Amino acid sequence: MALDIRRHAKTDAGARKVIERQCWPGGRTTCPRCGAVKAYALAEGRMRCAACRYTFHALTGRFAGLAGLTPRQWLRLLELFAAEETANAMAATLGVAYNTAYKAASLVRLAILAASFDGLAILRGPLGRELGFSGKTLRPVSADAPLAQVPVFGILERGDMAFVDYLPDMTPEDILHFNLHFSLPLSRLGAIVFSDRYQRYQTLVTCGAEVLTRRFVEVAGRMPAVAPRQEGFWAYARDRLVRFHGVTARKFPLYLKELEFRFNSRDNDILPILLANVCTFVPELA
Ligand SMILES: [Zn+2]
Repeated sequence: MALDIRRHAKTDAGARKVIERQCWPGGRTTCPRCGAVKAYALAEGRMRCAACRYTFHALTGRFAGLAGLTPRQWLRLLELFAAEETANAMAATLGVAYNTAYKAASLVRLAILAASFDGLAILRGPLGRELGFSGKTLRPVSADAPLAQVPVFGILERGDMAFVDYLPDMTPEDILHFNLHFSLPLSRLGAIVFSDRYQRYQTLVTCGAEVLTRRFVEVAGRMPAVAPRQEGFWAYARDRLVRFHGVTARKFPLYLKELEFRFNSRDNDILPILLANVCTFVPELA
């Protein structure tokens, strides 16, 4: 039976129970190293594997295990994340440093990305390393540090669902080329440049490409801007991207994937999904 996450988040013991139920369904304390199910309970929720003697706890090897938060802090943070609060607000409510809250929020976004349709392919490629994620650790990279290669995403809409496809073979220079030679209309939102419909994609979008922002004035004079749409994914995403102050090239891929998830889950309570995502094992990236 599902536990009421919000109610159990009020106490340390309740929160730990929620996390352990999520990580060890049916009480099966699977060893993250060898996969054996038999383990001995030690103090404070730690277990020792009967087969390989490895000591672990519920979050060992999982996204949530990389953050240094208690189970109760995790559940509170996920509630705030679900409510679209900022890392500043999370830090203040949890009484932790801003960097701790920001790192935990980044792990939530990475876990969302990992669970998305092309998430593992993204994390295993060069873009995954650019996001500061190397599998067992999250190496904080300054949000303002430029990317070696600025990615392009294509937004595909099917019925009520939106898919944000990472297009590894496309570059911001290609978008410029489509504008200059094939009259593809472009518009700009801060450092974000987005296009009108291109082939099967509703929109091509990229953020922080020097070549595009530098030439945008010239580009914008050539074509009508992209006609603003009042509904669908991009209208939803655009409003929120404006509210994320100062989206940088490095933050953009995770924000965009987060918005894909929020849009596709917009009629659901996302808290249990977020909990399941951060409690999954960090994928092998090698
Ligand atoms: Zn083991």
